[in-house]
Amino acid sequence: MKIKRFLLVLFVTMLSFSSLLLYSCDGLSAALYDLSDIFGIESDEDDSDTDISSPDQTTNTKPSVPVSSLDAEKIGFEIHFINVGQGDAIVIRLLRENINIIVDAGSGTGSGNATIAASLVDYISALGITTFQYAFATHVDSDHINFFDDIYKNFTIGQIFLNDIPDTHKSNTATVETLRQSAVDGGSIITDLEANKDFAYDLSSDDGTYTFEFFAPGYNMGTDDNDMSPMILFGYAGRRVLLTGDATIKTEKWFLRFFGEEDFDVDVLKVGHHGSNTSTSQEFLDVVRPEYGIISVKEGTYNNLPSWQVLERLESNNVTVYRTDLSGTIVLYVTSDGDMAFATEK
Ligand SMILES: [Zn+2]
Repeated sequence: MKIKRFLLVLFVTMLSFSSLLLYSCDGLSAALYDLSDIFGIESDEDDSDTDISSPDQTTNTKPSVPVSSLDAEKIGFEIHFINVGQGDAIVIRLLRENINIIVDAGSGTGSGNATIAASLVDYISALGITTFQYAFATHVDSDHINFFDDIYKNFTIGQIFLNDIPDTHKSNTATVETLRQSAVDGGSIITDLEANKDFAYDLSSDDGTYTFEFFAPGYNMGTDDNDMSPMILFGYAGRRVLLTGDATIKTEKWFLRFFGEEDFDVDVLKVGHHGSNTSTSQEFLDVVRPEYGIISVKEGTYNNLPSWQVLERLESNNVTVYRTDLSGTIVLYVTSDGDMAFATEK
């Protein structure tokens, strides 16, 4: 039986930026763009199965090196897995093009949240960021979205991608409405990932340097909010990083349909759902084959996360794991030669 799906694939080609709409923000020039306008994206909304091409198979399999041995001038790509306790806040910098992206901004509820939110804002400010050209809210759980209010108060977001929320998923209505209102007040282009449609956006180019693709199942993937988390795949200099939000095994199965039996050798996997055993199946690992795994999770034994089963699974698959509860904020640097290094707060 055909499973309806919702798929959005974006390849960002940084050499095409001459046609971007430029505007001035906080004294800095920044790019604000609607992908469909700029790149002439054609969408396929006819519910037919979509022919999705596989990602570029060119890979770099060298292990990571110490940060000190990287050629700093060649660093073109960074991902900051910022320690927010129980939650996700991930900042991606495409340095050659001065593009900043934020994927989720949240932490579990607690009395220390204001302090965590303030430190998140301080961290991003210290990077010199004033604008995010893109933001992604992977799903509606508060530990992924409740700090967007603080982000909007301190930074500009050009375009934000949200999952549309049906009535059956409105357990977190107040936080979702706060996010939407912040996005409206902040002047963002808001792109809703509606369900019950198939989308295939293809922006690939022969001369692209950075790529990102995202695969969004839509909210009708299941009854669990986590099921709607998109997979976001970044590529640079032969390296690949896969972000998963809180995607479940059900979402992983859906995602793997686009790749069949082939592997595409991800270098770094943001381990799904804070290391919960509801994610990161062996079937998924068999295809994505990460060398490194990042687990964003609260210090201590919150909800028994990360689960020992997932840790064992990662170990048996030779995945080197970095955890925010143990190492604090974790930063991945990639150079234009494809060399990569991790730095940790502690
Ligand atoms: Zn979560």
